[in-house]
Amino acid sequence: MSFFESYDPVFNSYVLGNAPVKQHATGFDWVEGPVWFGDADCLLFSDIPNNRILRWTPDIGISTYRAPSNFANGHTRDHQGRLISCEHGSRSVTRTEHDGTITTLADGFEGKRLNSPNDVVVKSDGSVWFSDPHYGIMTNYEGHKSPSELPCQVYRIDPETGSVEAMVRDMNCPNGLAFSPDESKLYVADTGRMFSDDPKHMRVYDMTSGTPANGRHFHTIEPGASDGFRLDTDGNIWSSAGDGVHCISPDGKLLGKILVPELVSNVCFGGRGKQQLFITATTSIYSIKLNRQGVQTP
Ligand code: MG
Repeated sequence: MSFFESYDPVFNSYVLGNAPVKQHATGFDWVEGPVWFGDADCLLFSDIPNNRILRWTPDIGISTYRAPSNFANGHTRDHQGRLISCEHGSRSVTRTEHDGTITTLADGFEGKRLNSPNDVVVKSDGSVWFSDPHYGIMTNYEGHKSPSELPCQVYRIDPETGSVEAMVRDMNCPNGLAFSPDESKLYVADTGRMFSDDPKHMRVYDMTSGTPANGRHFHTIEPGASDGFRLDTDGNIWSSAGDGVHCISPDGKLLGKILVPELVSNVCFGGRGKQQLFITATTSIYSIKLNRQGVQTP
């Protein structure tokens, strides 16, 4: 069987013809938020409905990193290598210090509680950017059912002052997000309000003087939706989709697909040389080695 579908000849040079999509572990409920720790040779990811963060190490397999996790969802690392996490349960973004203590970076905006932070990236200036859709407070499945106090927006946490500023205000429900390698563009997936017919698509913003501007449609994933994505060093976007992972060029063209047998939620680059794409997909984690290198996220 082939693990790939190619829609552009360039995609054939991105994949390694005999490299398999490998399932590393299964039996979870809804996995999300993969983040690679090269210094510890492990992947952390969330099993959101089971309220835990798990660790996968190539030689050891699965162990528990944190439980309960406040229904943690997306993760990344800052420039000091610290874990940054979005938590539905506490409706906050946290940082895990090197000594293991947990610092709250953001839990509100203009005196109101955040909805349920979903996905997060750190910019080169140390600012933390996160999406705040309402998915984690709409039911008790992935958090605590509660009223929404704020529109669903993308926020920036200032690295010096810690102040929280709304940066993207024109979306129904922002979800995955990432900067282009040169940080001139910000990509954000809008997966639409729960129980609605909102469009599901990726939008792109020009970063003008540090502020996202000129928001416009970038790409619509079919089938499924773009929940989470990461970029390679040439600016190609590797996004979750209903049938696997789609590779989209910087000008919005579908180049090819990695086929995965479960609905994919998110991806991250890791492994040796950051050339292995880790995939969280419903009940399982997978990876595939690519002839691509992930952009430092960091
Ligand atoms: Mg997400």
